[in-house]
Amino acid sequence: MLISELPSALERFDELETALASRAPALFLDYDGTLTPIAARPEQAVLPEGTRAVLERLAGLCPVALVSGRDLATLRRLVALEGVTFAGEHGFDIRHPDGRLEQPPEVVELVPEIDAIERALRGALDDLEALIFERKRFSLAIHYRHLAGSHLGRLREAVEAQLARHPQVKAMHGKKVFELQPAIDWNKGRAVLSLMSVEGIGAESLPIFLGDDVTDETAFERLRGRGLCVVLEGEEDRETAATLRLSDPDEVRVYLERLCRLLEARPAA
Ligand SMILES: [Mg+2]
Repeated sequence: MLISELPSALERFDELETALASRAPALFLDYDGTLTPIAARPEQAVLPEGTRAVLERLAGLCPVALVSGRDLATLRRLVALEGVTFAGEHGFDIRHPDGRLEQPPEVVELVPEIDAIERALRGALDDLEALIFERKRFSLAIHYRHLAGSHLGRLREAVEAQLARHPQVKAMHGKKVFELQPAIDWNKGRAVLSLMSVEGIGAESLPIFLGDDVTDETAFERLRGRGLCVVLEGEEDRETAATLRLSDPDEVRVYLERLCRLLEARPAA
């Protein structure tokens, strides 16, 4: 369905209440565009204090995981909370609440290739000052939100030339960003399923995933029929596998506050 055709998650909150009468929630949250508004520069996407406060309360009530395209260190610094799971770089780089780290080994082996691509692209596109290169541990994001449309073809060609030279690396296309990352069969959807098994989130629980970007669709698809998927409205309408919608990060905070009050009102198990 198109995002614009979905019912509001706030208007359908009673359905969540009913579902949680018999199941415990497990929360999976994207960061940029979901918890914080999309910022002009990635480093400006600060977590609103009210959202941090409600996440802290929720972390004491149910499993909470941040699943983001950001690198792990940046994500931890921006969210600045204990007792939650951080899945950076679309789940390549995971830190569990007890401090344990987890990465697929094939991702670690590809770091030198990402290094080579970064050098080549920074060199080839040196004169395009509007580009923002965001180097992460296992991937490279090139943000082109401020790039003149006439230069987009050149960026695309440069990226494609690198992909041809490095077949073990693939490009993901997000919101005004190319993400060059290891071409392994891994995405947010697989990361969520893996987290559910590792964190002991059983079949009796209700996974709830909130996200705004096309990379979140992999999680919506994996959780279809099993969990509750909420998509954020973006600049453009598009098809989605989510079944509910929220309009912006303010509505996400309101939704999380209602969920939090609902869980706090429950008698202790
Ligand atoms: Mg996002």
